[in-house]
Amino acid sequence: MTVTLEKSVEDFIATPRQLFIGGRWVHAASGKTFATPNPATGETLAHIAEADAEDVDRAVRAARAAFDGPWSRLTASDRGRIIWRIGDLIEEHADELAQLESLDNGKPLAVARAADIPLAAELFRYMAGWATKIEGNTIALSVPYLPGAEFHAYTLREPIGVVAQIIPWNFPLLMAAWKLGPALATGNTVILKPAEQTPLSALRLAELMAEAGLPDGVVNVLPGYGETAGAALAAHDGVDKVAFTGSTEVGKLIVQAAAGNLKKVSLELGGKSPNVVFDDVDPELAIPGAANAIFFNHGQCCVAGSRLFVQESRFDEVVEGVATIARGIKLGSGLDPDTQMGPLVSDEQLRRVTGFLESGRADGARTVAGGNRHGEHGYFVQPTVITGTNPDMAVVREEIFGPVVVASPFSTLDEIADQANATDYGLGAGIWTRDVSKAHALAKRIRAGTVWINCYNVFDAALPFGGYKQSGWGREMGHEVLEAYTEVKAICTQLHI
Ligand code: NAD
Repeated sequence: MTVTLEKSVEDFIATPRQLFIGGRWVHAASGKTFATPNPATGETLAHIAEADAEDVDRAVRAARAAFDGPWSRLTASDRGRIIWRIGDLIEEHADELAQLESLDNGKPLAVARAADIPLAAELFRYMAGWATKIEGNTIALSVPYLPGAEFHAYTLREPIGVVAQIIPWNFPLLMAAWKLGPALATGNTVILKPAEQTPLSALRLAELMAEAGLPDGVVNVLPGYGETAGAALAAHDGVDKVAFTGSTEVGKLIVQAAAGNLKKVSLELGGKSPNVVFDDVDPELAIPGAANAIFFNHGQCCVAGSRLFVQESRFDEVVEGVATIARGIKLGSGLDPDTQMGPLVSDEQLRRVTGFLESGRADGARTVAGGNRHGEHGYFVQPTVITGTNPDMAVVREEIFGPVVVASPFSTLDEIADQANATDYGLGAGIWTRDVSKAHALAKRIRAGTVWINCYNVFDAALPFGGYKQSGWGREMGHEVLEAYTEVKAICTQLHI
């Protein structure tokens, strides 16, 4: 059984989609298109214009014209009003957007409806409030080599300019919101490149943003491939900043490409996050918590709690509890209301994840739940729990980005602090204990951008998010993100009186 698609969704996917440049829908300069598949079946869902370097040039010109023109002339209050309205329109079209998201990405419709869409709407509303609160400072000077001189000095916080934003496929609309909200609140203009696997919700969002009153050219949306459209954006001399979310491997390519004009760079990259369960814990809380930490969004979360550490005396109980949950998860199409976990996003991702499952087995690890592809159609993988690993195994070191957790026992706080940090990444971490002192002592020692205590996967527009080490540069959300989208100008006047 699947839900009936809204008429607007049927129409949206039936019409070949174009690029959104300068407020107009246009074909790609090359005339090329690509197909986005339905991950539950592998069949083509929609046809999309494929942006390339020439389209990037056009979009950069449109974004520059909007930055130099109408967008900079709006008051901060008017800017905030438009951004707020984008949030309202997302909410008004929540059912439709959730269906598009579920179709394109594979995630259960109920999850998209309860999490992705409201979080995206809320992000725009939170950022709308910041538009009128971007402030500089007045600064007292004491210039030692000009005794007696008086100065009036202050700072202005200004938009960086034309921003390229490249996003992944795991939360397509929400990642667009995380990027667009702060860029617009601070007065930048944008070229957004959605992931080639999931371009649909960003294209629908472009329509809603125009309806909200965003002037032409302020946001341009260019679906296309990373190696072409994405690389052209990262290297473009007319782009002042690139904001990227995706793999650490591509993040490093972005940094190299950005070096040409030394554009500003912010990066949200991969993770291999530790989730630590102490033996004083309430198992009713920690077991479903540990399962949610890895299986939410099919493990396709940059913060997935993919390394589960359990204190020795509770190891068997917690691992068996998580394995029991894994075995009971109902896989199916995202549009089936009974589905608890949908397919992975793509055939490539299916091959990548099952490749890790094979490598774990070949290295001698033990699979206590799952361990294989599910079914023969679509890109489904069984929720998997692995034990008996050692720190050198690929399943322990590398980001799998699928519903696969490796579990190991630990004994002391010192030992687990070291193990938790034994990774190149530093994005998220979880701690489960009734002892607040232990929780905060360990939280301080873990080198990660977010530490959740007795919860996991809690996101809020007000909570800064980002990575230590090879998990990225800068922070998204919270007021911290405003720094990533502004330049500071110091203005100094000598008072000749
Ligand atoms: P990816 O890095 O291949 O792709 C992400 C985006 O980058 C896509 O839009 C893609 O088209 C583009 N891209 C690819 N190659 C490019 C290039 N050479 N130049 C410019 N752009 C390019 O990532 P993926 O494998 O599709 O997605 C999964 C990865 O994303 C995981 O490793 C995951 O950890 C990471 N991720 C991180 C976060 C976070 O917030 N830190 C969030 C989601 C996903």
